[in-house]
Amino acid sequence: MLKLLFFGALAYFVFRFVQKVRLSGGGNNGNARSGPVDEMVQDPNCLTYIPKGNAIRKSVNGETHFFCSQKCVDEFRNKK
Ligand SMILES: [Zn+2]
Repeated sequence: MLKLLFFGALAYFVFRFVQKVRLSGGGNNGNARSGPVDEMVQDPNCLTYIPKGNAIRKSVNGETHFFCSQKCVDEFRNKK
């Protein structure tokens, strides 16, 4: 239980830190294009969109794909 609390707090602080960095790092460009942090990529296995920063990047048959989880990496590789 204590461990769970600890990891919860840790995740919260990491989340707050990332938000702070993103807020301070953002310029005042009126461009609608989002930065690399907010870029969404599609998992070719389950077709879910995930933030590029959270995705697992894997090269399959010379092509780079982004996956939501290791499970999808394995499933996609088995499909090919
Ligand atoms: Zn997936």
